[in-house]
Amino acid sequence: MSQNNKTLTVVLLVVLVIGFQCPVQTPGRPESKVIPNEFHLVASENLEYTQPSIVYGRTDVMTITPWLAPVVWEGTFNPDLLDSIYKPKNITIAATVFAVGKYIRFLKDFLETAEQHFFVDFTVHIYVFTDRPKEVPKVKMAPGRKLEVRSVPSSKRWQEISARRMELIQTLIKEKLQDHVDYIFCLDVDSKFHGRWGTESLGGLVAVVHPGYYRDDRRRFPYERRPQSKAYVALGHGDFYYCGGAFGGLLQEVYQLAKTCRTNFEEDAKNGIEAAWQEESHLNRYMWINKPSKVLSPEYLWQDFKPRNPEVGIIRFSGVVKNYADIRPNA
Ligand code: UDP
Ligand code: MN
Repeated sequence: MSQNNKTLTVVLLVVLVIGFQCPVQTPGRPESKVIPNEFHLVASENLEYTQPSIVYGRTDVMTITPWLAPVVWEGTFNPDLLDSIYKPKNITIAATVFAVGKYIRFLKDFLETAEQHFFVDFTVHIYVFTDRPKEVPKVKMAPGRKLEVRSVPSSKRWQEISARRMELIQTLIKEKLQDHVDYIFCLDVDSKFHGRWGTESLGGLVAVVHPGYYRDDRRRFPYERRPQSKAYVALGHGDFYYCGGAFGGLLQEVYQLAKTCRTNFEEDAKNGIEAAWQEESHLNRYMWINKPSKVLSPEYLWQDFKPRNPEVGIIRFSGVVKNYADIRPNA
């Protein structure tokens, strides 16, 4: 073998060995995009921030679950530090919101307040599902933020609208978002942002604790209690009661959630059963088995009619008071 050939062989071997050791890229992702690794948090060495204390912290609420997922409350995180960690990752956050029938009236406030509080200064794509595309309000959005309207059929039953959300989210992720979105949040439209909702909420699978039941014994949670349903949770089981009106996480995680909830919902329908709170019941069953890696406190979905409890330092997102008889297509 000539010297040249030897060199070539060595080079080829090196290339092969390196090639085998390199982690495989997620299919479909452009190579230039930094894959956000949930577990790799790189901070800037120039950022100055308050010293965290290992011995003092909030003691009035749970800040970590028994499976060691953080529970996000005001006072448990440093927003500047988190933003500085996530900014260089160049992430894109999608949000879905359904405004079918008369619920279109809530969309303007939702979108305007999202501009003020939801992932400000990040790349945000909001997907509005509606049967009234012409009535979608024009809301000025900051650079890097955009809105896309997707048409859906009208419905005569609100239960059906609420139930179809999982199917549409699943399809959206599969057909549209897979290659360019990192995280997704699925939110109720009949709500407004009042405070920061940002990088502190990012995680693999993210659930929000429902404001209505968080001080109750789990026997009182409105889980689906009929064993025939795929959403069944037995008395004495369950962790928290989570909201159907806000959940999210990494794209792949939410895809799994939406797919499972949709399949289980359809299976129930075949057997002539509709879970007590439609997709919220299926979501609760899912989150009991597939533990969320981050839990958001009820600060992340309060209800305007509820007086604020002392442990809730700030209300970030809250459901508006609505007259069901006036806005829903059926009773
Ligand atoms: N929704 C809709 N049109 C309807 C009923 C529901 O667009 O006629 C959507 C909307 O996004 C709403 C969500 O489904 O926020 C859940 O329904 P709703 O807010 O009425 O449930 P609640 O929060 O009162 O349990
Ligand atoms: Mn709602």
